[in-house]
Amino acid sequence: MKALQMVDTKTQYLKIKEEVDAAIHEVLDSAAYIGGKAVQEFGNALNAYIGSKFTITCANGTDALQIAMMALDLQPGDEVITPSFTYIATTEVVALLRLKPVFVEVDKKTFCIDPEAIRKAITPKTKAIVPVHLYGHAAPMEEIMAIAKEYNLFVIEDNAQAIGCDYTFSDGTVKKTGSIGHIGCTSFYPSKNLGAYGDGGAIFTNDEALAEKIRMTANHGQKVRYLHDLVGCNSRLDAIQAAILNVKLKRLDSYNSARQSAAAYYTKAFEGIDWITTPYTAPYSTHVHHQYTLVLNGVNRDELSAYLTSKGIPNMIYYPVPGHKQKMFSNFGLNDVDLPITDWLTERVISLPIHTELEQEQLAFISSELLKFKQAK
Ligand SMILES: *Cc1c(COP(=O)(O)O)cnc(C)c1O
Repeated sequence: MKALQMVDTKTQYLKIKEEVDAAIHEVLDSAAYIGGKAVQEFGNALNAYIGSKFTITCANGTDALQIAMMALDLQPGDEVITPSFTYIATTEVVALLRLKPVFVEVDKKTFCIDPEAIRKAITPKTKAIVPVHLYGHAAPMEEIMAIAKEYNLFVIEDNAQAIGCDYTFSDGTVKKTGSIGHIGCTSFYPSKNLGAYGDGGAIFTNDEALAEKIRMTANHGQKVRYLHDLVGCNSRLDAIQAAILNVKLKRLDSYNSARQSAAAYYTKAFEGIDWITTPYTAPYSTHVHHQYTLVLNGVNRDELSAYLTSKGIPNMIYYPVPGHKQKMFSNFGLNDVDLPITDWLTERVISLPIHTELEQEQLAFISSELLKFKQAK
């Protein structure tokens, strides 16, 4: 059996090597290293895929979130409601822009932000909500958009883990996550569902004025070269990465299907096991399984993790410390933030290898060895 990895980007690359290498060489030959055809083509293809009116590519997913917040003209001290149970980038940019992160609770089953918790956290200073489609499952966008409308708030979707996920509204309309909020953000970090071979990111919006502001913000605040109308930053998708992503975007749906098949294998193997809760998929969402994350009931996670590692099975804790307990926010007056569900999940989640190249033999080994943990003790 091939050695196990959390993510196997190498095997995936080897299957598309010719096409990727040719695309890279085309960029090299064109000498268009910044911007150019590859970046244009990828931006257009991604825009069509997501079903957004405008797509602005940028250097990474963290920049995408930062640029989104800059473009909304949020002012220091404005409050931004976000889950605490997310990757740090979501909330770090809030603090970086001198906005106030307001951490709220997630749903125990979907791991995504709880609309009731959003409602309770709204104050006159609230300006935006940042739902995160964690692990590849959509946050409840229909309810979130209704709250945003009621209180006149902006919604920025953090879609870094869920590219390709479909959201079904109660009237039957289906949209891709990232195209629903006022702005959507995503990342092409190599391990993401649509991963580059380096960094990359993109920002989506259906609002033309906002699209222009985002484009300017990502490009030193300029629309006309050397005329800088606002304070921006420099955040570009690299042309070589765009060429690679062009090859991979065509395969994104089949990559997501492969993840779903692997997830289905695990879920079937763990059916009826009382110490394992397998990932839940709400009726409104598909699940693109950026992660396959279990919640453990009554077993020692450190022991399980060490046991899996001893069997050559990689495993990870996403994320061991929630945002509201990170030292970086110690000056943000979060002492009395109490998020029992977030804390509960943080102590119990464990993620197994999930990627497009998992073979039946590997899945069988991982699940059967995991199930032997209790006997092994
Ligand atoms: C990966 C990720 C980001 C940041 O993306 P980078 O490209 O690494 O900057 C933001 N939010 C979430 C939820 C992520 O998983």
